[in-house]
Amino acid sequence: MSECLFCGVVERTIKGDVIYEDDAVVAFRDIRPQAPVHVLIIPRKHIASLLDLETEDKGVTGHIFQVAAKLAREQGIAKNGFRVVVNCGTDAGQTVFHLHYHLLGGRHFGWPPG
Ligand code: 5GP
Ligand code: ZN
Repeated sequence: MSECLFCGVVERTIKGDVIYEDDAVVAFRDIRPQAPVHVLIIPRKHIASLLDLETEDKGVTGHIFQVAAKLAREQGIAKNGFRVVVNCGTDAGQTVFHLHYHLLGGRHFGWPPG
């Protein structure tokens, strides 16, 4: 069994509320949602953080943004707006070291972020 929590979601050894998947990515609802819609989009491949992206990962990062737009429409947050966030490292509050994109919507977000 994988030691990485999100690899566990990919491999289905850890339960996740998966709302979308394809051969490159998996999207599932955050267990502690910070907004009415809070979905995590992750590459199937284990990449620890944004800093660990390799040239061969260029395709999947672009694909994740397309999936984010598709899910934003499907989840009903495209019209009013939404946010896509990647936390990288300690100061940003990254807690799970498998690259993930937060898709957040359904409420107003302040700027700058806290
Ligand atoms: P980070 O703080 O690393 O950017 O985001 C990690 C996110 O993963 C957090 O929003 C947290 O709520 C979520 N999370 C942590 N453990 C689990 C889990 O077991 N299942 C799901 N669905 N989300 C999780
Ligand atoms: Zn992983």
